[in-house]
Amino acid sequence: MTHAAGILWILSAPSGAGKTSLARALVAEVPGLRTSVSFTTRAPRPGEQDGVDYHFVSKETFAAMAERGEFLEYAQVHGNSYGTGESWVKQQLFQGADCLLEIDWQGARLVRERLPDYAQSIFILPPSLSTLEERLRGRGQDSAEVIARRLAAAREELLHYDEFDYLVVNADFAAALADLRSILRAAHLRREQQQFTEGERLKHLLGGQ
Ligand code: 5GP
Repeated sequence: MTHAAGILWILSAPSGAGKTSLARALVAEVPGLRTSVSFTTRAPRPGEQDGVDYHFVSKETFAAMAERGEFLEYAQVHGNSYGTGESWVKQQLFQGADCLLEIDWQGARLVRERLPDYAQSIFILPPSLSTLEERLRGRGQDSAEVIARRLAAAREELLHYDEFDYLVVNADFAAALADLRSILRAAHLRREQQQFTEGERLKHLLGGQ
């Protein structure tokens, strides 16, 4: 198809791979890229802001939203519900803006199924399991039990790496960020995207037809 729309970027990774920091840096650097703020039933961590990090909602509110079909996708992760609001994402895409979803593999699968013409997915790999464990401990905000659960979930998440279009290793933050920028740039240079972005130029070059 000729893309008269933005690209829906899906970013997934095992917890502790550095996904959130990379996403934040990417959004700060790439004009027009916007992150979807997910809905969750999880309690806010210290420093997290409602409407910025997540929309923190009750289980009842989440269930009602799901019932009304307001989610593009939703899933249970680490015992809590997480979901992507559908209307905001579609609005961004149809306005021609790229949109970034930081979601788990289950959500990634659902979004690929729902919006195959828009979705491009990237999986962040940690350099090693020991680095992953260190990073999970280093966060220092969760109990030992929660960390153990996250490590198990991280292994589970890693098993799904082969469902993604791109793999980026986050051994060095700056290098991983550069890789992400390259992926986004290259995607916009694809002919289908350029037919939209450079439509006027192509018309001119082809003699006004
Ligand atoms: P955390 O609670 O550490 O912020 O996030 C836990 C996991 O939930 C992460 O893997 C994150 O990608 C995932 N997650 C966050 N928002 C969403 C969402 O809207 N949908 C899905 N499927 N997963 C999400």
